Amino acid sequence: MPTSTRAAVLRQRGQPYSIETVELTDPGPGQVLVKLAACGICFTDVGVQRYEQGTPLPQVLGHEGAGTVLAVGAGVTNVAAGDRVVLSYASCGACPSCSHDHPQYCANFMALNYAGVLPDGRVPFTQAGQPIYGGFFGQSSFADHAIAYARNTVKLADDVPFALAAPFGCGLQTGAGTAYNTLNVQADQAFAVMGAGSVGLAALLAAVDRGCHTIIAVDRVAERLDLARKLGATHTILADGRDLMLALREVVATGIDRIVDTTGASAVIRAGLEALASRGELAMLAVTAPGTEITFNPNTLLGGRSLLGAVEGDADPQSFIPWLIDRHRAGRFNHAPLVTEYPLAAINEAVADMASGKAVKPVLVME
Ligand SMILES: [Zn+2]
Ligand SMILES: [Zn+2]
Repeated sequence: MPTSTRAAVLRQRGQPYSIETVELTDPGPGQVLVKLAACGICFTDVGVQRYEQGTPLPQVLGHEGAGTVLAVGAGVTNVAAGDRVVLSYASCGACPSCSHDHPQYCANFMALNYAGVLPDGRVPFTQAGQPIYGGFFGQSSFADHAIAYARNTVKLADDVPFALAAPFGCGLQTGAGTAYNTLNVQADQAFAVMGAGSVGLAALLAAVDRGCHTIIAVDRVAERLDLARKLGATHTILADGRDLMLALREVVATGIDRIVDTTGASAVIRAGLEALASRGELAMLAVTAPGTEITFNPNTLLGGRSLLGAVEGDADPQSFIPWLIDRHRAGRFNHAPLVTEYPLAAINEAVADMASGKAVKPVLVME
């Protein structure tokens, strides 16, 4: 078993990652050692790099890992050495939410995904005896190896490339799950997504799969709208300062049945709410900036309209990720055009390209 690994370490807030060699701990009971082949970059990684989020530094981030199991700790039965796997978020399995098949609202979510240490108190990495924190989303996959848990390690079919599989662990699950699970979009509905980044486009792909008769993508970046059209959007709206409520109502005068907001921007969410059809639903999935408040005419809701919120697409990764990958294999969920591959060592370039919009979903590859 390896005793050291190469990792992209975030040492200081607002600084780039540095590629370093760190010592690796053994998998304890319930834990899984994975040799990573790929890891997507998600906006949560960018958020921790830029802003104080209560998780300690230096730390190895990365929470869309995919690779091969090298070893399992005591009590792990769902995967074994040699299995190809995708890693998702961690949950405890014992709290009321986990017991009711809603691990995304686990009472121990912060402790298991943000604490920087494993639940048994060990620090996953060290360097010259100093702690390098990890266990980010139960993995820390910006590295050649990760320690994950049985509950967030999901078996992967042989025929799905790691670089395409990795983003199912968070971003694709979040976007697609919000459309499939939270909103349960249907063919006789008009659908809109506010924000056509990787999460929004995953929601759009779900609406395409379900056959929604009208699919609208809204974004500030024209190139993303071009991509949305290629993926199946029937209409696009460039958010160039125009009244988004009126623009949506111009497409469907009676209003939009289901909207996913990925922007977390109060004006955009309000425009979406006001553009909803009677009995329409808007689901928000983005963390809004501190201090954000949304004002809207409460009578809007009297038309049977709902404002919902969801994390991780209301999805249990053990059932949802294999299901979504089956949709992908059946040609019903083609996210390949979203993915751009970078070597792990080029992580800072990948983050910059994501911020500039040059890459929609950067995926680091470890080979
Ligand atoms: Zn729980
Ligand atoms: Zn994420």
